[in-house]
Amino acid sequence: MDIKVLKFGGSSLADAAQYKKVAEIIRADPARRYVVASAPGKRFPEDTKITDMLYRCFELAAQKQNIDEAFGEVEARYDAIIRDLGLDFSLEEEYRKIRMAIEHHAGEDYVASRGEYLGAMILAKYLDFPFIDAESGIFFRKDGTFDDRATYKALGALLSGKAYAVVPGFYGSMPNGTIKTFSRGGSDITGAIVARAAEAALYENWTDVSGMLMADPRLIENPRVISEITYRELRELAYMGATVMHEEAIFPVREACIPINIRNTNAPADPGTMILSRTDRMPMDTIITGVAGRKGFSSITIEKDRMNTEVGFGRKVLGVLEDFHISFEHAPTGIDTMSVVVHTEALRDCKEALIGRIFHDANADSVTIDDNIALIAIVGRGMVRAKGTAGRVLTAIAEQDVNIRMIDQGSGENNIIVGVSEDDYDTALRAIYHAFVREA
Ligand code: ASP
Repeated sequence: MDIKVLKFGGSSLADAAQYKKVAEIIRADPARRYVVASAPGKRFPEDTKITDMLYRCFELAAQKQNIDEAFGEVEARYDAIIRDLGLDFSLEEEYRKIRMAIEHHAGEDYVASRGEYLGAMILAKYLDFPFIDAESGIFFRKDGTFDDRATYKALGALLSGKAYAVVPGFYGSMPNGTIKTFSRGGSDITGAIVARAAEAALYENWTDVSGMLMADPRLIENPRVISEITYRELRELAYMGATVMHEEAIFPVREACIPINIRNTNAPADPGTMILSRTDRMPMDTIITGVAGRKGFSSITIEKDRMNTEVGFGRKVLGVLEDFHISFEHAPTGIDTMSVVVHTEALRDCKEALIGRIFHDANADSVTIDDNIALIAIVGRGMVRAKGTAGRVLTAIAEQDVNIRMIDQGSGENNIIVGVSEDDYDTALRAIYHAFVREA
């Protein structure tokens, strides 16, 4: 039978009621064999995540302050879950060890990782699944990078010895045995690593939304859920800030062609979003898969008469950027002009010096910088075959009387980027979305 690996996020495990939903989901399908757990997250908007409570304990200990109250709150959260699940089980001994380690200045990553460690222990107990500590199956190299070879060998062996298991997310161990965590939200990465090590057919990432949305819900009311998206499209949208999980979680599963299914613990019947290496299925009734954007860009415009006849002009301009360690996003060119779009932040301390160098090295007639530019990416594999997509985008924006500052079509033909003034960002994004998605 094909193996499914499931990862549950913090809100899916925030209290006993959520644990019950999680258990029901796991038990509904015998292929759901390996489960990765985040630490209990927020139960309501003003609540504090266990991970943040633990970081707080670490800080208090570092300032030589008493941790009794702060750590007591952590214990109380877990004890309530254990009690409300009706488990005959105590974490007292674990609490004692952890509290002592914190008081003796254990490392920050160790302290933070105990959130998933304790939470996963409870889940294993509740499901009656074996517990596999990530410490003995997920490894980092000395330089702190993820050690894929050592991990897949050890974790693969640990998993193959067990039909079912719960693995805590977020951390692994260093060559000297100390605990190291991934960056925040890193249980998504653990889930992907376990899926890869188990040679799973599917990685289910259970969260509190019914999939990835076609646009930012703060700008578009009730945007549609994306039913299928390719890894490449996801990268394009994620780069523009549309995220549904940790960006680095893509790599382990992408290499092994394991699809990811984003699902909602609170609405398990919803199909969610499938993230696939490739798909021949086009988005249902729109040619775009999603639209996302970001503010905070600047456009450097360089003018030079007869630039088009000068071989090496672009190289000289980009060479200056390279010397300043600035990476560029887009570089649309005209006959006598070239623009380079960069993050405004990258120009913060070097605007004047950069302008001077471009003047000098490229022998430019003029160099100007415009700030406050927002970029909007219209992404979709369907665009390769469809005609007139760019026209629809431009018309939609023009109808709102918004001026387009830049346009660029990616060479893969699966994205179009438009630059507008930051003030026009919301209007332009809404216009583009509605040009492709007609409400039913
Ligand atoms: N608990 C960790 C965090 O809050 C990791 C995770 O939830 O993925 O960042």
